[in-house]
Amino acid sequence: MNGGEKNEGFHTVEVGETAFTVLDRYQNLRQVGTGAQGVVAAAYDTKLKQNVAIKKLSRPFQNVTHAKRAYRELRLMSLVNHKNIIRLMNVFTSQKTLEDFQDVYMVMELMEANLSQVVNLELDHERLSYLLYQLLCGVRHLHAAGIIHRDLKPSNIAVKSDCSLKILDFGLARTANQGFLMTPYVVTRYYRSPEVILGMSYSGTVDIWSIGCIFGEMVRGQVLFPGSDHIDQWNKIIETLGSPTPEFVNRLQPAVSNYVRTRPHYRGMSFSRLFPDGCFPAEAGGSRVLAAQARDLLQKMLEQDPNKRINIDDALRHPYTNIWYEPSEVEAPPPLQYDTSLDERELTVEQWRAELWREVVNWQPHPGTVSQASTSMQN
Ligand code: AMP
Repeated sequence: MNGGEKNEGFHTVEVGETAFTVLDRYQNLRQVGTGAQGVVAAAYDTKLKQNVAIKKLSRPFQNVTHAKRAYRELRLMSLVNHKNIIRLMNVFTSQKTLEDFQDVYMVMELMEANLSQVVNLELDHERLSYLLYQLLCGVRHLHAAGIIHRDLKPSNIAVKSDCSLKILDFGLARTANQGFLMTPYVVTRYYRSPEVILGMSYSGTVDIWSIGCIFGEMVRGQVLFPGSDHIDQWNKIIETLGSPTPEFVNRLQPAVSNYVRTRPHYRGMSFSRLFPDGCFPAEAGGSRVLAAQARDLLQKMLEQDPNKRINIDDALRHPYTNIWYEPSEVEAPPPLQYDTSLDERELTVEQWRAELWREVVNWQPHPGTVSQASTSMQN
């Protein structure tokens, strides 16, 4: 159930191998993705007369990690309102009471692909720079709401063929364990910044690093730093970009700086070798200028030292992106601020279950949404 639709009926359909029990208004379900949290289906919303995506969180309170993530996602989605961040349109569960509570369904705008399915397409500068601009706008809005993502990656960024882009998730909780010398666990860390990998304190520029990795991958057509684990991740960065400066190493925790100092010394590749002209779209007139601008921005985003890395506002003012600059998109204020104590809450599985139930039952949609501007991804 949810706040407004207590009397609506439900029906159950199989989506892949997962049973979805959804409100009757949602029809024609078919699977479009799977993630760490569950299965995502496309559906037609007969009430709003539009296609939507429905994500099923199966027993999100099965353990504390899942529960906290689901709760955080529900809460954070209501703090943001930006066309480059996925909008939650509805939340419901088919169970009638807390005692029976099992599953949560999150209804969102339907996107067509995630960015990992687009990185190998040959996009021209207009599309490349527009995707980059939107990613920067979305992340700037998250930062304005007090949310630093720290785990941006192509699979969590969705796009449509009109070249519109939306960020699908809210990244790592502030309390997520990130220590460099911790037991490895299976996640994609190709896009994680040196400060996240090395367990340093961080600011919003962590997300600029990830955006640089994603943009660089789109230009080169391959992952820039494909580390096999978190130690190899660091190796890939220094092998490609060179060893960090002593000034940077001195700011690391003692155990980590000792490790970093014992690595072989690498000179790294120049950016013109890493991103030669041939990787960039070949366009009539001005293409070398655009390639040089794109390379310059990549170099500024892929700066290992966060204190020297370009910040988000300057990245949005860079000649490569600022052709798209639209104050209402860049500066759109978030409706609410993130209360960081949310990440520090330590509850039992049963307490999380009750909190999630409360969020689902009391959920209300955003009063307003921002309209779309777009360019086409297809010629
Ligand atoms: P997630 O569980 O959020 O990591 O999503 C898993 C996958 O489902 C993503 O990588 C996307 O391919 C797909 N997906 C998630 N949300 C949507 C959406 N709103 N529209 C279309 N596909 C989506």
